[in-house]
Amino acid sequence: MSYRVTLLPGDGIGPEVTAAMKEVVAASGVDIQWDEIDVGLLAMEKGKPALPEEALKSLRRNKVGLKGPVTTPVGRGHVSVNVMLRKQLNLYANVRPIKSFRGVGARYENVDLVVVRENTEDVYAGVEHEVTPGVVECVKIITWEGSTRVAKYAFDYARRMGRQKITAVHKANIMKLSDGLFLKACQKVAKRYPDIQYEEAIVDAACMKLVMNPQAFDVLLCENLYGDIISDLCGGFIGGIGLAAGANIGEKGALFETVHGSAPDIAGKGIANPTAMILAAAMMLDYLGEHAAARRIRTALEQVIAQKRHVTPDIGGKATTMEMGTAVAQRVKE
Ligand code: ATP
Repeated sequence: MSYRVTLLPGDGIGPEVTAAMKEVVAASGVDIQWDEIDVGLLAMEKGKPALPEEALKSLRRNKVGLKGPVTTPVGRGHVSVNVMLRKQLNLYANVRPIKSFRGVGARYENVDLVVVRENTEDVYAGVEHEVTPGVVECVKIITWEGSTRVAKYAFDYARRMGRQKITAVHKANIMKLSDGLFLKACQKVAKRYPDIQYEEAIVDAACMKLVMNPQAFDVLLCENLYGDIISDLCGGFIGGIGLAAGANIGEKGALFETVHGSAPDIAGKGIANPTAMILAAAMMLDYLGEHAAARRIRTALEQVIAQKRHVTPDIGGKATTMEMGTAVAQRVKE
């Protein structure tokens, strides 16, 4: 089977980690036709907008995209490409797997959890106003539809990926209506998945338990704000920003990406860690149903990192981005 995927390498270290990722995916044998389009600074250098219309068109057509980091220039008039993509494609769920790698000297070991974050509602609707001088109001919007949609995605994901348990994170003891609605939606969806264990945790207690024993969690299901905070907290478990990937899921498609930014301080040096981009590609292969190839890529990556011989300087090695990519590709072929 052949797939057509929109590839947005991004800018900064984006094109470097993209080249390494392409070699690894090619080694997996899955036939992917890349629709490669410049976005961010590289598009702007050619006199185009940071998010050219052709990129959106391609994503709408292919329904699956893979994206490297994109710089948001500081200053007025520059809207983040990431935010634009999320809005334009109505990507309602953010999925961030957090899995420890052996050999990177992270503080925690054997962490293997996934944060599923609702991505369109909550306080991010940006509805804020001044009631009277010195008093402002920020509106938190939670809907039955939005909560049900993300909960359903989380349970389907858990089932597809062989995960056992979902923990809905909330503060319904204080926000009885909004978080209460979110919980009711999660509970209703949970009833349809008797094979997946369901539990609830109050966000503050969940944070403490996460820091003390992250191994106790499997899939965390969160509203937008709690999900934002918890996914970064969990990112710290695995040590190193170059090691995490995420997915943005919509009703009509999905966009996979690195969690790290464009890292201008090391761009062009060929030393960026390609792990996040390779993991993003593996998540994409899972989404396409190519689970065996995704698994092979993840295992190869784990082995190369554990061995330490062909890894980039950020995790204690001397290899270049391409050398690490080639080492992973070699293992995938074996
Ligand atoms: P943004 O606002 O786009 O998230 P940022 O500057 O806050 O950007 P990053 O661009 O992710 O964050 O960079 C943070 C630090 O991590 C930098 O020192 C960068 O060099 C390093 N870094 C990020 N990604 C990688 C990577 N793939 N390999 C090695 N180092 C990385």
